[in-house]
Amino acid sequence: MRMTVLASGSKGNSTVIASAHTRLLIDAGLSCRELLKRMALAGEDPAALDAILITHEHQDHIAGLATLARRLRIPVYLTEPTHREWVRMVTPRTTMTYAKWLDRLQAEKETGAAAVTSGVPHDREAAGEAIVGLVSTPPHDFPCDAIPSLAAAVDPDEDEDEVEAPAAKRDPAFLPSVEYFHSGTNFSIGDISITPFTIPHDAADPCGFVLESRSESIRMAVATDLGYMPPNVRSALKRIDVLLLESNHDLEMLRDGPYPWAVKQRVLSRVGHLSNHATAEFLARDYDGAATYIVLGHLSEANNAPELALLSAEHAIGCRGTLLGNRVLLAQQAAPLAPISL
Ligand SMILES: [Zn+2]
Ligand SMILES: [Zn+2]
Repeated sequence: MRMTVLASGSKGNSTVIASAHTRLLIDAGLSCRELLKRMALAGEDPAALDAILITHEHQDHIAGLATLARRLRIPVYLTEPTHREWVRMVTPRTTMTYAKWLDRLQAEKETGAAAVTSGVPHDREAAGEAIVGLVSTPPHDFPCDAIPSLAAAVDPDEDEDEVEAPAAKRDPAFLPSVEYFHSGTNFSIGDISITPFTIPHDAADPCGFVLESRSESIRMAVATDLGYMPPNVRSALKRIDVLLLESNHDLEMLRDGPYPWAVKQRVLSRVGHLSNHATAEFLARDYDGAATYIVLGHLSEANNAPELALLSAEHAIGCRGTLLGNRVLLAQQAAPLAPISL
């Protein structure tokens, strides 16, 4: 079984997990072009991918999803709430604010046109609700620990994709095939058995994955984007051979760093990201020491230093770290990590 981390961090996440017979892509958080480039660099054949699995709908996990799934014509596995939220994100909005609606009404009155405007609420209360809906909606494409960027909501490769079906041009949420799973319920793709588990994070229905190759009896897990380590995650991460685990920020660097206060609060919250300290605490207290490799991922570029994350995890592993087990690696944002094969 093999894990190839193509990218990890708030600018994009994607990992190939492959058994002898099945190849899966976990998240597609870079542009389609960049994902294909990184697969080529890492020696992974995109045409051999069987499916894409999505952990949650944040931009750094889905940026290239639609274009890649259409180009490769492979199914996308995700939960229904995640799919619904993603469709909402990529579908152009037609709702207007109450202020704009009033302006338009005024303009229409002045020109003598009919005051009734289709699709716009006529009474103030309904219009008010529409505004509340717009204003209170959190920035849905908020990168996991950075500043929101609406411009990034569309894969830059999208327009250049000539192989897309006409349906995709009409419907930005078009995917060749969608399969729903439920966290806590095991399912299989080829000879890989997948157990999704719920993680505490500010998305519609976020999850991590345990993936087991039945033919090889190897287990790999992906656990990033979680505010803390709840009991269900701690127990999901038992008997894992290769563990991709978040080590997002150094608490002091985050505290003194450049992020606005509200973003700092979000990262630190119970639905934010694991600090080096929280990851070390898990590794020292709850981790069973079974992994051959622990890959630290989703490191913040602004609020962490790779050496700090590594030192913190290695210190927590202590004397359990040997040449044969508990080796700690760092996933990169800018380049793929060499494939880890067991
Ligand atoms: Zn993320
Ligand atoms: Zn996230």
